[in-house]
Amino acid sequence: MSSESPVSLWLLGSGSQGNAAAVAWGERLLLLDAGVDLPVLLARMRDADLHPWYVEEVLLSHGHRDHVLGAAAGAKAYGWRVWATLGTVWRWRALRGVDVRPFEAGAAFDAGPFRVRTAATPHDVDDSAAFVVEAGGVRIGYCTDLGHAPDAVVALLQGVDALVLESNYDEAMLRGGPYPPELQARVGGPTGHLGNAQAAEVARAVAHPGLRHLVLGHLSRHNNTPALALASMRRALEGTAFRGVVHAAPPDTVLGPLTLEPAMPEGAPAGVERGMPHVG
Ligand SMILES: [Zn+2]
Ligand SMILES: [Zn+2]
Repeated sequence: MSSESPVSLWLLGSGSQGNAAAVAWGERLLLLDAGVDLPVLLARMRDADLHPWYVEEVLLSHGHRDHVLGAAAGAKAYGWRVWATLGTVWRWRALRGVDVRPFEAGAAFDAGPFRVRTAATPHDVDDSAAFVVEAGGVRIGYCTDLGHAPDAVVALLQGVDALVLESNYDEAMLRGGPYPPELQARVGGPTGHLGNAQAAEVARAVAHPGLRHLVLGHLSRHNNTPALALASMRRALEGTAFRGVVHAAPPDTVLGPLTLEPAMPEGAPAGVERGMPHVG
């Protein structure tokens, strides 16, 4: 692997039935969440042509089942090193028997060859985090399961080349949908999930010409549709510096690879294409 190896991103599941994403730099693999039952996660990885033995690091955003479910089993079977906050370890007993490296939400650390920066996210579980993973000159943001985006999260996500961003619910669908009022209040509250309008605000705050892939994630099956989420986001990004592609992550199939070349060094001649052709 050279420092020029491209970095690729796959979504392997997104939403309340299970979340996982993979980042590859050359042959080095990192998972962002592993909230899919291990056999299913392995099947998705096979679909993506990713081998579980190549996974070295797993970053867990928080302790909810849909982000953690397959992590301990994968760590036992394949020696994955799991990075989790103490709140996540505390909540998910199975993690106590595997190689867990605790981190504090807000900290930065090296997970193998990947530089990781984090920020605390407001969610209805202790100690949850958003990530930016950096390798080969490419930055990938992963920001899901938060009721609102504090300044520290918006600051963390500045300058990313690709971003997985929660866009859980359409406001009108949530209000008129099947959830009882308490659950509506929880989902839409300050420690619940980001709705389409909130995701749009975050995207506008971090939009820049180098952001090539914006993946809307954790879409609710009851309170959102991919078409609504995409339309809301594309509208919000009109007139911004965003020049990339917006995707909606499918709940239970693979999206990717989204391949990212490192940015051109400063002073590179103008007009030189910066990235690979867009996928999606
Ligand atoms: Zn979730
Ligand atoms: Zn959650």
